[in-house]
Amino acid sequence: MAPDTGTAKTPPANDADARELAQEDLQALFDALTARGWTVVGPTERDGAVVLAELASADKLPYGVGVALAPGGYRVRRREDRAAFAHSAGPQSWKTFLHPERARLWQADRDGDGTVTFTPDAEEKSPVPRYALLGVHPCDLAAIARLDRVLTGGAFRDPVYTPRREAAFVIAVACGEPGELCFCASVGTGPGLRDDAPCDLAVHEIAGDDDVRLLISAHSARGAEVLADPRLPVRDPDPQLPELARCQTEAAERRMGRELEAEGLRDVLAETLDSPVWDEVASRCLTCGNCTMVCPTCFCTTTEDTTDLTGDHAERWRRWDSCFDLDFSYVHGGSVRTSGRSRYRQWLTHKLGTWHDQFGSSGCVGCGRCIVWCPVGIDLTVEAARLREEAGASEEGTA
Ligand code: SF4
Ligand code: SF4
Repeated sequence: MAPDTGTAKTPPANDADARELAQEDLQALFDALTARGWTVVGPTERDGAVVLAELASADKLPYGVGVALAPGGYRVRRREDRAAFAHSAGPQSWKTFLHPERARLWQADRDGDGTVTFTPDAEEKSPVPRYALLGVHPCDLAAIARLDRVLTGGAFRDPVYTPRREAAFVIAVACGEPGELCFCASVGTGPGLRDDAPCDLAVHEIAGDDDVRLLISAHSARGAEVLADPRLPVRDPDPQLPELARCQTEAAERRMGRELEAEGLRDVLAETLDSPVWDEVASRCLTCGNCTMVCPTCFCTTTEDTTDLTGDHAERWRRWDSCFDLDFSYVHGGSVRTSGRSRYRQWLTHKLGTWHDQFGSSGCVGCGRCIVWCPVGIDLTVEAARLREEAGASEEGTA
C-alpha cells in the first residue's frame, strides 16, 4: 500500500506568481484578513507551550520560539532566529476550531400548556465563526483534508464542521523545522507544500541571520485577492528565495525524527490482532485518551442531555469522545472493549489500518502529537515496527 499523499515534499520553487513579504509586515496580512471579516487564529506562546488561539495582532506570534520534544515530553526553547512558525506538535490541532470540543445541537422548551418546542442549534442557522487559520503545517493541512473526507465527504455533512470549514481561510506554512517525533515525510504528507496544496495561501518562511522573509503563493481565488490587497507591502521575490525554500524543505525531510513504514501496514495490523505486543503496550497504557484528544484526525463524539431544575428547559450537547473511554463501546448490557489491550488495539488498527477501508487513506498524518502528549511516552511508530517484525517472523516460520 502506497503512503497517502496529502501534500508532497517539494516546494513550488518556480512559482512565477509568488510574492515576498518581510516578517515585520505580517500585521498588514492580519489587516487584510480582518478587513474581510476573518478572525485570525494562529500559534502563540502561552503557559509554557505554543498553543493555537485567536490573535488580535501579529505581535502575538511566537517569534524565536522553538520546541524540544520527546516521548511524553515537551518544552519550548529559544531559537537563534526570529522564525514564527518553526515549531511542531503543540497540544492542540486546528480541529479545535473546525470541529470544536463542545457544540450544542438543540434546545427544548416546555411552555405552560405542556407544548415542547425544539430549536436546533446547527450553525448554518446562526453566525458561523470565520477563521483565518494562520500557520497550518503540511501534516495538519493533510489532517484537515482527512476531516473533510470524514465529516463532509459522504451523504452526511456534519452541521457544525461544514459551515466552519467552508468559511475558513487557510494559510499553510511549509515545515522547515520538523520535531524530534515528526514523520510526515514517511507518510507522504510533508514537509513541503505542493503546488495544488488545498489552502488559500502557501508560505515558506526563510529565516536568515538578520531577517525573516516570507515567500507567499496564492492557491485559490480568494487567496489571490488577499495577496493583491494594496495594503500588503509584497514585492517580487529575491531570485534566491525559491531556491532557499526548496533547500530548506529538503533539509527538513532529512531531519525527520521518526519514520513509519506505511507500505503494507494495514495488512500487518490485520495479521497481528492476537500478538503479545498488544498485552505489553496495555501494561503501560493508562487509557487516558490523550492521544485521541491531541490527534488532528480523531473525530469521535458523544452526546449529553441536560435539563434545568424546573424540567422546562433541556439541551443536547455534543462533545469529543475517545475510543479509550470504557463507555465509548457501551452497547446494550455493557462495553464491548473492556480491556486496555482491546482499546489501544482498536485505536491503532483503526488509525493505521481500517481507516483505509473506510476513508481511502491512513488516519495518521505523521504529526507526532500522540507520542509527545502520551504521559507514558508510548510511540506508535515503535509499536507498528514491532508488529511488522512479528508479522515478518511468523511468515518466516510458516515458509
Ligand atoms: S496518530 Fe499520532 S502521529 Fe498520527 S496524526 Fe494522530 S497524533 Fe499525529
Ligand atoms: S497510548 Fe498514551 S496517551 Fe494514549 S491512552 Fe494510552 S497512555 Fe494515554
